[in-house]
Amino acid sequence: MESERTDPAAEPPGTGTAPTPAHTTRIAEKGSFSTAHCSCGWYAPARRSRDKSRRDAAQHTGQ
Ligand SMILES: [Zn+2]
Repeated sequence: MESERTDPAAEPPGTGTAPTPAHTTRIAEKGSFSTAHCSCGWYAPARRSRDKSRRDAAQHTGQ
């Protein structure tokens, strides 16, 4: 059930005025591997180093 709490300030309904970035990346770690994920559904292959995952994410976002 998801109607336990209604928090109107949590998220703007539908089309808000705040510009949400299309690509929000984060690094997920699993054991000694890390993988870059993006809010758009993209994800990088698992890397041994978090630094490489960060680079994957940076390349994806074009930074
Ligand atoms: Zn993306």
